[in-house]
Amino acid sequence: MYDIIVIGSGVGGYPAAIYLASHGYKTAIIEEHLIGGECTNYGCVPSKALYHMAQAISALEKIDADINIDFKNIRKFILDQVDRARKGIEYLLEKSGVEIIRGHARFISPGEVKVGNNVYRADNYIIATGTRPRCLPGLVFDGKIIVSNRHIFSVEEIPDSLAIIGGGVIGVEIGNMFAELGVNVTVIEALDHILPFLDRDIALTIKRYLRSKTISIHEKTTTTKISAYEGQAKILLSNGEKIVADKVLISIGRTPNTGDLGLKEAGVETDEKGFIKLVNGYQTHNPRIYAVGDVIGGPLLAHKAIVESILAAKQIMGEKIRRIEYHMVPQTIFSGLEYAGIGYTEKELRTKGTKYKKLRVPLSFLSAVRIKGPEYCFAKILIDNKDNVLGIHIVAPQASEVISAYVPLYLAKLTPEELATFPYPHLTVSESIRDIAELLLDESIHLLKLGHKR
Ligand SMILES: Cc1cc2nc3c(=O)[nH]c(=O)nc-3n(C[C@H](O)[C@H](O)[C@H](O)COP(=O)(O)OP(=O)(O)OC[C@H]3O[C@@H](n4cnc5c(N)ncnc54)[C@H](O)[C@@H]3O)c2cc1C
Repeated sequence: MYDIIVIGSGVGGYPAAIYLASHGYKTAIIEEHLIGGECTNYGCVPSKALYHMAQAISALEKIDADINIDFKNIRKFILDQVDRARKGIEYLLEKSGVEIIRGHARFISPGEVKVGNNVYRADNYIIATGTRPRCLPGLVFDGKIIVSNRHIFSVEEIPDSLAIIGGGVIGVEIGNMFAELGVNVTVIEALDHILPFLDRDIALTIKRYLRSKTISIHEKTTTTKISAYEGQAKILLSNGEKIVADKVLISIGRTPNTGDLGLKEAGVETDEKGFIKLVNGYQTHNPRIYAVGDVIGGPLLAHKAIVESILAAKQIMGEKIRRIEYHMVPQTIFSGLEYAGIGYTEKELRTKGTKYKKLRVPLSFLSAVRIKGPEYCFAKILIDNKDNVLGIHIVAPQASEVISAYVPLYLAKLTPEELATFPYPHLTVSESIRDIAELLLDESIHLLKLGHKR
């Protein structure tokens, strides 16, 4: 009998397990595959290891350097990073006294879980079983030609050509990295533009950048047929074009891992897509069972899963918690020229019928931007009629780091006056927050043309 059993050891599962065990709770974690889940093994860690290399290549392209890449070394670097990250989590789990149970967990009653032939019981459970890549109907991931994020970062040889079906975050990130390695990349997106959840001006700017990296982008286009032929894929597009590629990455979305969990037996409900529904905080319809991370939907991001994990642990311990509001979760896209945002997009505000003002600030006045990226970067701040910040959107080099500097403005923890007089480190893209604050105060130094109504 355990106090808590956590199902799934990804970033949604392991922090709660460690937190609870280190507060004296008898805790077990059940994992059917690799400790660390998608982020550690097939997502954030390998993708950002490869991204680091891709960005180095991109920087050298600015001076037309002759670049010789040995992909074997890049592959080794990626796999080493994954290995170290996974072993780190295993070490932390063991050190904090969490019992690791290997195998597939399935509820057989509202308070019992079966793994193989063994039945385990606990006072409380946390489900953090995440999601898996979704394939196109009629196709299967063969791991060689038709691949997902679970194959692409460990390929033995770099393909000459890569077709990417789905121009969302994962498709765009992987497309940029492989294009930097010299791969001929084509992205096919069914909706109006790539990154369809973002405002059009942002998506168009990222598209302009990706095209400058010779990525071919087809929008409002679907695939009508994909067939493997002599070690390559032949893809027929809805616009009549044919593409031949060494590999096809399918990145059209994720399916929650709830199909074979025994949720009916557990008394846990899901929505029509299979994501677990919550009732109170992170409690499901069964008050002994909690759920966090990708499996409950919302933005499928590791930082959301980590914080939810700790909040669920605190809730189990009797603390009053508040669920994360999704618009407070920063979104980041590591697409070479990066996007990061917090709060609402213009699209969302228009849908909600909220009136807003827009401050669109070109960032090319910053040396840091000109050194690290293209000049067409910008920040967009959306404000209501009482000057509350509703959304911040940055398209700039290292925007994924920079957004953290902007968070105090969004949370209204610091006033524009305080931000404008804070000595942010020079020469960084983050110091643009001081310029934005000056602009909000109508006291701009660097953005004379935009500011000064005086
Ligand atoms: C290519 C890619 C890049 C990404 N990059 C980023 C990034 O840079 N930043 C970011 O914030 N997010 C990123 N993400 C998203 C991030 O990976 C996910 O948000 C995160 O992994 C969610 O964590 P989780 O613990 O909820 O689920 P998962 O990581 O999916 O973990 C679930 C775990 O549960 C196990 N499991 C499932 N069912 C069972 C069962 N019945 N019994 C036992 N075990 C089970 C699985 O094996 C898995 O280990 C990326 C994702 C991808 C695909």
